[in-house]
Amino acid sequence: MEVMVCNMEIPETPRYQYAREKAIDTLIEYGNGVLPISVKNIIYNLPVNIRYNTFSNLLKSGITMSEILDTYKSNDGAVVQCNNGYCIIYNDIDKPSQRIRFTLAHELGHIVLGHLEFDGCLYRLSNNEYKVLETEANQFASQLLSPEPLIRDILKQSKARIIYANQIQNVFDISLESASCVIKRLKSKRGISSYKEGELHTLYSKPLKEIYELYD
Ligand SMILES: [Zn+2]
Repeated sequence: MEVMVCNMEIPETPRYQYAREKAIDTLIEYGNGVLPISVKNIIYNLPVNIRYNTFSNLLKSGITMSEILDTYKSNDGAVVQCNNGYCIIYNDIDKPSQRIRFTLAHELGHIVLGHLEFDGCLYRLSNNEYKVLETEANQFASQLLSPEPLIRDILKQSKARIIYANQIQNVFDISLESASCVIKRLKSKRGISSYKEGELHTLYSKPLKEIYELYD
């Protein structure tokens, strides 16, 4: 997934906590309290001009698939600066809807984490720098679509104190693979501030209540 960046400012290692906090901040500020989380709704609410384009749309305009892949260096999607804002281009042709949701959240991550503000030195991007930015965007996407504080809330409510990957998959409309990663991540102790956890809990209290009843 392509990003435009400038060498000097790229962190040497992924800023996990920064990416996670930014995702939670974005949800608190622009989420609508509905689960599963709608990335397009968040993008709509953001005070930034973000447009979409799809691979099928590009094909219709006469651009070939190999030109698309050559330009955007990804079979999932990319984000570029355009017209006083950003344009997210994504593969809507041969990707499942959960993968598309993740791609949109990932590209939004590049925007919110400021990756595009590093400005234009794409050709100098080393493998490591590329990996750092991709990891940060993935971390953001995972936290945005399946926020850990909400999963911990559900877990606390369950009598058996257990949550399965397929439950996380259903509630948050993410792939089983992502849900399994979320469970692994729950075991690590990286926390979100309790104030933000509270804010998020309040925002999503209605769907959470329905979920508690479902898994009780
Ligand atoms: Zn990317």
